[in-house]
Amino acid sequence: MVSPAPITRLPTHEVTNQPPPLPAYNLFERDLVLREALAREGGAWATDTVAALGAVMGRPETLELANQANRHKPELRAFNRYGQRIDEVEFHPAYHALMEIAIGHEISAIAWTADQPGHVVHTALEYLFAQIEGGVCCPVTMTYAAVPVLQKSSELKTDWLTKVTSATYDPAVAPVSEKKGATIGMAMTEKQGGSDVRTNTTAASPLDAGWYALTGHKWFCSAPMSDGFLTLAQAPGGLSCFFVPRWRPDGTRNPFFIQRLKDKLGNWSNASSEIEYHDTWGLLVGEEGRGIATIMTMVHHTRLDTAMAPAALMRQALVQAIHHVRHRTAFQKKLIDQPLMRRVLADMALDSAAATMLLMRVARGYDEAASSSDGAGYARLAVAVAKYWLNKQAPNFVYEAMECFGGVGYVEETIMPRLYREAPLNSIWEGSGNVICLDVLRAINRDPGALDAVLGDLAAATGADRTFDTALTRFQNAVADTSDPEGRARSLTEQLALLLQASLMIRHAPPALADAFVATRLGGEHGRTFGTIPASVDCDSILGHAWPE
Ligand SMILES: Cc1cc2nc3c(=O)[nH]c(=O)nc-3n(C[C@H](O)[C@H](O)[C@H](O)COP(=O)(O)OP(=O)(O)OC[C@H]3O[C@@H](n4cnc5c(N)ncnc54)[C@H](O)[C@@H]3O)c2cc1C
Repeated sequence: MVSPAPITRLPTHEVTNQPPPLPAYNLFERDLVLREALAREGGAWATDTVAALGAVMGRPETLELANQANRHKPELRAFNRYGQRIDEVEFHPAYHALMEIAIGHEISAIAWTADQPGHVVHTALEYLFAQIEGGVCCPVTMTYAAVPVLQKSSELKTDWLTKVTSATYDPAVAPVSEKKGATIGMAMTEKQGGSDVRTNTTAASPLDAGWYALTGHKWFCSAPMSDGFLTLAQAPGGLSCFFVPRWRPDGTRNPFFIQRLKDKLGNWSNASSEIEYHDTWGLLVGEEGRGIATIMTMVHHTRLDTAMAPAALMRQALVQAIHHVRHRTAFQKKLIDQPLMRRVLADMALDSAAATMLLMRVARGYDEAASSSDGAGYARLAVAVAKYWLNKQAPNFVYEAMECFGGVGYVEETIMPRLYREAPLNSIWEGSGNVICLDVLRAINRDPGALDAVLGDLAAATGADRTFDTALTRFQNAVADTSDPEGRARSLTEQLALLLQASLMIRHAPPALADAFVATRLGGEHGRTFGTIPASVDCDSILGHAWPE
């Protein structure tokens, strides 16, 4: 917490030139790019809802909850005092308070409970939350993303679905019938392979009425305190998707042995575990042998949030950095007025704005998917592109923002180290970088509607800037080239990401941003680090747009 009225005149020196703490602010109201994108992409109906969460996330009290939930990591309680297994995870109260904020503001539910398309709104809400705390987003995202899979099962469509889409957070360790709300996890990765889940060895033998007994392990299972999990196991008919509840229908504990919690680089508030199934009950979801296709519906939705997270991290890092340099002086000038610092931050602001715009446009694809094949095609391809590209940008971006602080940015009393530790994660899970680029190839080659939908969207931006038009032709030639497709997958994905971002900038951003983005990102007027934009770039407009004083 920020302590009031600290003493600045100390016995040995006076403390000067220290920026004030970032005051409480509304993360939504102060984010021009997000506000415009929410309205443009179809989420205007929920402006008040999003603004309400923006206010909560900008409170110093919420930041303190985030700090505490990360300082006091979750602990495994595999056994009770009598040596009996309970496999529970103990969280700090701050974690529960954050879960209550997230679920209470319907981040996981709104896309499914609103009477109009709600993925854009879901995305905007979680984008606000993820700026302050990333760990809680893991169970919130999985709960959101599990819904379309649960909807496929007549057994799960009833009580489970009601609890999973509830706006009440209920951390009780109890059967779902006794709870007001439930959360869902996902367990696919095994020791011998996470990208290639066809190598899963967990075995499922049929019991009765759609239930199977699962035996095996999962090497990564995040949020293991969740009430139920979608998982994969080898049934007689092949790799299949199962729903594993923590409690069996008869009210006894389902064996769900949490072996240990992972000691992770970051994402500390969130528990990630290794688990074992031993005659663990799982309900078949979808058909036997169609496990990957079934669970991919969930993965398609978690991917949206793995594209959201880096955009959120970049936005928060940018805000923190701009605030700091506006108040810190070096060499007789505020840092923000040093020409090189302006270039660095304006350059970063371009990427942050483009990230948010792309994210929100992708989310609209999800909203349109139910009623239009173009929407579905756009979402299918563009989410993979966005997940890859935004996550590749985030770690370096956050590091540059940290450096704007100088030494204190490396110190845990700022949010910067936490943002930095979080930055690589969303690239790794839900399909690591290469795997995502290969998926982009798959979407282009096997789903022509997806590429057509994306090209159709890009075409709407042609004719305004020759650099963009040339880059689009270059990309189309690269797609038509059938040599060495896998080896070129990163290059293709990167080109498409920049085109998508540039097309949004051209159509919707102020000219200062659009012109600079196209010239530097597509036209080659850029070096390999931030701050190498040319003198012609209007840094004043870009910085004023990013974080108005
Ligand atoms: C904190 C954390 C929490 C997690 N939580 C969960 C969870 O809740 N549930 C769950 O199921 N999993 C979870 N995971 C696991 C995660 O999804 C996997 O680690 C990820 O999918 C990669 O699988 P792997 O670790 O087996 O790596 P591998 O599959 O061995 O891949 C290693 C590298 O090889 C690359 N690669 C793979 N195939 C190819 C190819 N054909 N060509 C080129 N490169 C290739 C990959 O991109 C990757 O960079 C979590 C991971 C982390 C770090």
